[in-house]
Amino acid sequence: MKSYDLIIIGAGPGGYVAAVEASKLGKKVAVIEKKKIGGTCLNVGCIPSKAYLKHAEWLETMAEANQFGVINEVKEIDYSKLVNRKDQVVGQLQQGIHYLFKENKIDYIEGEAEVISNRVVSVNGAKYETNYLLLATGSTPFVPPINGLDQVSYLTTDTFFEMRELPKKMAIIGGGVIGIELAFAMAPLGVEVTVVEVAPEILMTEDEEARTIIRQKLKKMQVKVLEKVQIKEVKQGELVLDNTTISFDELLVVTGRKANLQLADALNLEKTENKKFIQVDRHYETSEKNVFAIGDVIDTLMLAHAASKEGIKAVRYMFGKKEAPLKNEDIPKCVYTHPEIASFGLTESEAQEKGYDVLVSKTPYSNNGRAISGNETTGFIKIISEKKYKELLGVVIVGANATEMIHTILAAKQAEGTLSEVEQMTFAHPTLSEMMGELANEMLN
Ligand code: FAD
Repeated sequence: MKSYDLIIIGAGPGGYVAAVEASKLGKKVAVIEKKKIGGTCLNVGCIPSKAYLKHAEWLETMAEANQFGVINEVKEIDYSKLVNRKDQVVGQLQQGIHYLFKENKIDYIEGEAEVISNRVVSVNGAKYETNYLLLATGSTPFVPPINGLDQVSYLTTDTFFEMRELPKKMAIIGGGVIGIELAFAMAPLGVEVTVVEVAPEILMTEDEEARTIIRQKLKKMQVKVLEKVQIKEVKQGELVLDNTTISFDELLVVTGRKANLQLADALNLEKTENKKFIQVDRHYETSEKNVFAIGDVIDTLMLAHAASKEGIKAVRYMFGKKEAPLKNEDIPKCVYTHPEIASFGLTESEAQEKGYDVLVSKTPYSNNGRAISGNETTGFIKIISEKKYKELLGVVIVGANATEMIHTILAAKQAEGTLSEVEQMTFAHPTLSEMMGELANEMLN
């Protein structure tokens, strides 16, 4: 039986990054994957959605250029070509991971892993032995019971990116981050999109003012957003709500994700109280001493970079390196709409609940030279601090380049900097980032 220091199950951003880290520590590692290298993120998640959002952005930019005198015309959208481009992007990145595995002498085993015990794994009938086991088995789309849904054809994010023809009308059930990003990807291509959300509002995980800006933009894009609705029934081509009926050619259901717990069940691992995730300690160790779990399968933020960071930390800890646990408030959250939303840390009310003497201030993009010159004046930067030490408790950026800019303040926070360190920095002019320095300055004075 072939034997390893570490076997990782799942080659998503959690698993493959952990494998590279373990290999760098001199360990013999194998990664087992039953679908495609790169997991959800690379194949049906982060990367394909961002490729599609880029297509939408090209169209929006062209329309904007027209408005200001750069006259152009979109004659045709060859959707299958756009899908091909996405496939190429995904293929290139898959090759990148294969290369990384080769470079780091990581064995890549294709097939579905079954666990015989916490030290023996079987794939396609072959058995492998390991000292440590890391479960990075991720999650799959969660589809709630909706009357009639099982009688009609519908897409989830597992199948959406295979769609080869643009529908005329698309209904999206679920107004969370993924549903809203995909509405932004489809509407500029001429698809009539309706988003149906059962919760009181779309994007409930995001800042309230950010939500308002995104709702206004969706309206401008002629995306119909129905919030706090009851779905009575789904029929072929029709969504029957409590007070109206929505017709569609394609129905996309994006109502959350559920952790893949089959292997955890087979190993009898302890679960979280709600039984939805694997229970781990702060070093990602499960109730079995040599079994660790990271990423979407545990109860932390369901994000690719969280999975990767957890993977690195779990591996360092299991092989005896001192590792500070990852804090949720240090993990950035990004929504790749147009304008974008990026945030980290505490909200104003969370900071108040924690007993801070809260100091909050906001600056609008509409005052910034770079934003005005680039016609990108929608949005704001909000910093949540406290009066005593001027700690950086939380930040929300809504606007162009928000998902890049967030890292500047995050870096300051990570280095235990305060508003003073942000204020001390010299920002280039004209940049959007200047707003951070100016806001910090205003908050200190
Ligand atoms: P996964 O990526 O799900 O990988 C788990 C892997 O394990 C899968 O490939 C699976 O096949 C494999 N596996 C499971 N069981 C077995 C078994 N028994 N044997 C062998 N292999 C097995 N996150 C972001 O941070 N940014 C984004 O912009 C973003 N956009 C997203 C857009 C969409 C449309 C979706 C659906 C998700 C998005 N996410 C995004 C979330 C992100 O994709 C996940 O948080 C991330 O992929 C989780 O990584 P993971 O390694 O834990 O699991």
